[in-house]
Amino acid sequence: MKKGAATGRRTMVRARSVLTRIGTRAIANGAVLVEEGKIVAVGPRATIERAGKRAIVIDAPGTIMPGMINLHAHLDSQCGPDFLTQALLISEANAVMVCVDSARRTLLAGVTTVRDLGTKYAAAIAVRDAVAAGWVPGPRILSAGQLVCMTGGHGWFIADEADGPDGMRKKVRKNLKRGADCIKVIATGGVLSPGVEVGSAQLDPDELETAVREAHKADKRVAAHAIGNQGIKNALRAGVDTIEHGCYLDDEAIKLFKKTGATWVPTLCAPHFLHEHLAEVPAYVRRKTEQVYDAHRASFRLALRAGVKIAAGTDAGTPFNNHEFFATELSLMAALGMSSEEALEAATAEAARAAGLERETGTVEAGKSADLIAVDGDPRKDITATMRVRGVMTRGLWMTS
Ligand SMILES: [Zn+2]
Repeated sequence: MKKGAATGRRTMVRARSVLTRIGTRAIANGAVLVEEGKIVAVGPRATIERAGKRAIVIDAPGTIMPGMINLHAHLDSQCGPDFLTQALLISEANAVMVCVDSARRTLLAGVTTVRDLGTKYAAAIAVRDAVAAGWVPGPRILSAGQLVCMTGGHGWFIADEADGPDGMRKKVRKNLKRGADCIKVIATGGVLSPGVEVGSAQLDPDELETAVREAHKADKRVAAHAIGNQGIKNALRAGVDTIEHGCYLDDEAIKLFKKTGATWVPTLCAPHFLHEHLAEVPAYVRRKTEQVYDAHRASFRLALRAGVKIAAGTDAGTPFNNHEFFATELSLMAALGMSSEEALEAATAEAARAAGLERETGTVEAGKSADLIAVDGDPRKDITATMRVRGVMTRGLWMTS
């Protein structure tokens, strides 16, 4: 990995094409001027060169577009076939080191912001701060700390367990105390936990409402893991901000999305990679993957038609769902009917809005954080261009792989 153009000096990134915001025309022969980690000006090369005399010049290959945002990852996971055993055995020190490695991989795949939705020891919080301090390379990290489930609920082996509104209040406050950026709750069973069914509702409505109230009081968002239909509705009615997975949607759930304004993060990558490796995962994981796979895809088509807000997240860290595979999510969305531009929007500005970061990132515009990437090709015409990341700028620091 080569690093260059540290913050503190003016840097100008030039490219044949600069896509400042999805849905607008690209600037041909464009340039972006960056100072102190922020974008100062964007425009045609000739104009920016006048403003950016003496700046360090980077000639980026291909198209410049906004840095991508992965709304769902578990940075302390090495994506092995047996998530449960891996999670049970990991030490706290090891978890931190895995997060450091995952952060670097995530960044080099063109993801300049990642939302970590639960690490066993809340290790991603320390790594978030290390990245922000410049000690280790990585994207901007938003961390949920430790996810919160009911006693014995999905993910109990990495979660903080809570029962009843009082129990939930305490666990949300505990996460906020240690510096969580958002809160993650478990509204249904899940594929990777033995002994729970994906269709069963888990945290009760009063527990979910308490989580939302406590988080929103602190101006933090709430993400709910919800696969089964009842749990999705419980979470939406409780006022969560994003539904993760959401495999079993129906018309009523769609209505609730529209009514509440919540965003859906389908994480198509999670069942996709499990499905590709069915012979290698434990039998209970295989059975439940086969159970949700088609329903999940049907739900995607339903939500897309209905105009539900959809943003990109992969659930990186689940089996074979590597931290560098973010762009696969966009291809999967496109294969299910999203246009390339919609998929790009879901991975940039829409994801930024869902995370409450729309003033900071998601577009290449003056005043925003200098989070941009260079991809090989025009991603608006060919979404797989996002798999060919040739350079990444995160908060003004340029890296090539
Ligand atoms: Zn997850």
